[in-house]
Amino acid sequence: MRLADLSHDDLLALHAEQTTAYEALVAQGLKLDLTRGKPSAAQLDLSNELLSLPGAGRYTDASGVDCRNYGGTQGLVEVREIFAPLLGIPVAQLVAGDNASLSIMHDTLVFSLLLGTTDGPRWVDGPAKFLCPVPGYDRHFALCEAYGIEMVPVELGPDGPDLDEVRRLVADDPSIKGMWVVPTYANPDGAVYSEAVTRALVEMPTAAPDFRIFWDNAYAVHHLTDDERPAVDVLGLAAAAGHPDRVFVFASSSKITFAGAGVSFFGSSPANVAWYLGHLSKRTIGPDKVNHLRHALFLRDAEGVRELMRAHRAILRPKFDQVEEILAKRLGELDLATWTDPEGGYFISLDVPDGTASRVVALAKGAGIAMTGAGAAFPYGRDPRDRNIRIAPSMPTPDDVAAAIDGLATCVLLAAAEQRLA
Ligand code: PLP
Repeated sequence: MRLADLSHDDLLALHAEQTTAYEALVAQGLKLDLTRGKPSAAQLDLSNELLSLPGAGRYTDASGVDCRNYGGTQGLVEVREIFAPLLGIPVAQLVAGDNASLSIMHDTLVFSLLLGTTDGPRWVDGPAKFLCPVPGYDRHFALCEAYGIEMVPVELGPDGPDLDEVRRLVADDPSIKGMWVVPTYANPDGAVYSEAVTRALVEMPTAAPDFRIFWDNAYAVHHLTDDERPAVDVLGLAAAAGHPDRVFVFASSSKITFAGAGVSFFGSSPANVAWYLGHLSKRTIGPDKVNHLRHALFLRDAEGVRELMRAHRAILRPKFDQVEEILAKRLGELDLATWTDPEGGYFISLDVPDGTASRVVALAKGAGIAMTGAGAAFPYGRDPRDRNIRIAPSMPTPDDVAAAIDGLATCVLLAAAEQRLA
């Protein structure tokens, strides 16, 4: 029976049952963490060969560049050649950087704010706003907040944001300078932007001539099914639409090799790449090319990356399956929550009854289950419906994932019963 159809007596019974279950949960003294989407040690182990590469005495790339020295701001060609086909970006338009694409997002944002883009004045001189499809990645929102960029939320569906709303907003308001997009297996709801949506975003007229889409393809190759969809050629579509400079692409090997010691990427139009490298050259005399060389030797080619991602999938998939199974078993019958069944990426997005997400997260915390704060996937940490909870199952062991999700389900049921009885 659905929660909504339960009688008062049924609700009292549910409340009593879940209170007992919750007390038993607290008594277990669990210490589980489903907060950040980090790869597990077993996943990191897949790339341990990197620890002994490039190997003593090996430090030149194919063209003879000494990787130990300064220089080569665009990064080693070998590593760019591996990722270019995976990201659908020409090698010449791809930059390889150090270990965090978030740093490149930060820099492009700050360069745009303080120095202006190729086609517009400094954003800092006027009001600057970003469209933020929600739910979204909390660190994108934290960047905007840190630099005083006003965030305008737009609803995200399974294949992209509400296009009518996006079109209307960007056409009307010249202070909307940018938009965050996680096009593949979005964090946290697994959305995959279709080619049609992508085309619409690069074609749409914008009041700001210097409007930029921050296209964060962090999970481009992180498939959880056999359907290994290729990256949409967003730069080609933008150029064909007459807006070649509209898109900044970001990616990294953080969840391919080592999260803290991978290679990051920036891709864009030739003009934007020149703009970025020009400003970057004030900040660095070159990236960690030894790490580029190490990655090129380890990954070999695009197929090497695909193979490695299948090994990640073998570790990750059972954890995602477990979340699905337990949520369906514990919450399915009462029809009180919905959750995503993503085809890739690192997250499951759980929507509980409106107004209860904060209570669920607090209850979970009381039982030793750390969840990402309710509202984290929304600008300013404010979920207007207080219903969304992000589940990151990658890091704990399968047994711990099962224990945490079972405990979480108890918290969802208890919070829902409390709310209906209040
Ligand atoms: N972008 C998204 C959407 C993410 O989910 C994450 C990590 O969780 C990152 C970027 C971080 O990437 P990097 O490690 O390259 O800084």
